[in-house]
Amino acid sequence: MPPTDNIMEKLVSLAKRRGFVFQSSEIYGGLGSVWDYGPLGVELKKNIKERWWRSMVHEREDIEGLDAAILMHPKVWEASGHVAGFTDPLVDCKHCKNRFRADDPRIKGTPGEPTAQCPVCGSKGTLTAPRMFNLMFKTFMGPVEEVAAVVYLRPETAQGIYVNYLNVLQSARQKIPFGIAQIGKAFRNEITPGNFIFRTREFEQMEMQFFVKPGTDLEWFEFWREERISTSFRLAGRNSRASTTARTSTCRDTRNSRVRNSSTWIPPRTNASYPTSWRRRRAPIARPSW
Ligand SMILES: [Zn+2]
Repeated sequence: MPPTDNIMEKLVSLAKRRGFVFQSSEIYGGLGSVWDYGPLGVELKKNIKERWWRSMVHEREDIEGLDAAILMHPKVWEASGHVAGFTDPLVDCKHCKNRFRADDPRIKGTPGEPTAQCPVCGSKGTLTAPRMFNLMFKTFMGPVEEVAAVVYLRPETAQGIYVNYLNVLQSARQKIPFGIAQIGKAFRNEITPGNFIFRTREFEQMEMQFFVKPGTDLEWFEFWREERISTSFRLAGRNSRASTTARTSTCRDTRNSRVRNSSTWIPPRTNASYPTSWRRRRAPIARPSW
């Protein structure tokens, strides 16, 4: 077994023993690429979400929060192009019945041709030509499946933001440029999920969509890239990207107020290079309590 697989196994096993991440439905053999967060895992996840929300929504005047429902009108996904285009090309092996992405690097040759070789059973010429497979989870709204409307579990949270744009704009009295942030579950019927929790079929997203005047988008993109990278380093307890001295801490440390209130917190930049289209609305925000 390659050493990397071995490390991954150890990591998964350690995460389970310490109560961070469990395999979903493990007593029934587990459900592929779905994971449950244990007592410590859920706290870690909650902390990350809270800090992201604080820096993104509470510390800013130009971003509003939103919690849209997972189920949306099917026309939303038609309009966004997800029904037609959110697809992966897949090939099946007629011999061992395994299914792969057409661009799976383990496949030798071109799928559909007699020379193509299945990466699992090694048979030649058993791979079908690529077929498109939609990554959205389909379900039915209403008690009787036959007459009920087809709805999808959202594959991303952004559409909930887009369809509520006007509601938020009007109710929060915002003007462009402003953003809408959301944290929520999304679902993708991945055929080749990644290792452990790195690409899962059910996952949580933290996302902010920022609406700007046409022509200022590149300027804002640069601003947000810099802003989010420095915030991530600040939350990780590092002063800057240049600082590579990671602070070692245990789970117990994070509950220790002395550590929590230590000097690792860097206040938000008050004279950051905001794009010219940004209108300052209020005084700089006070230091948060954590
Ligand atoms: Zn095969």
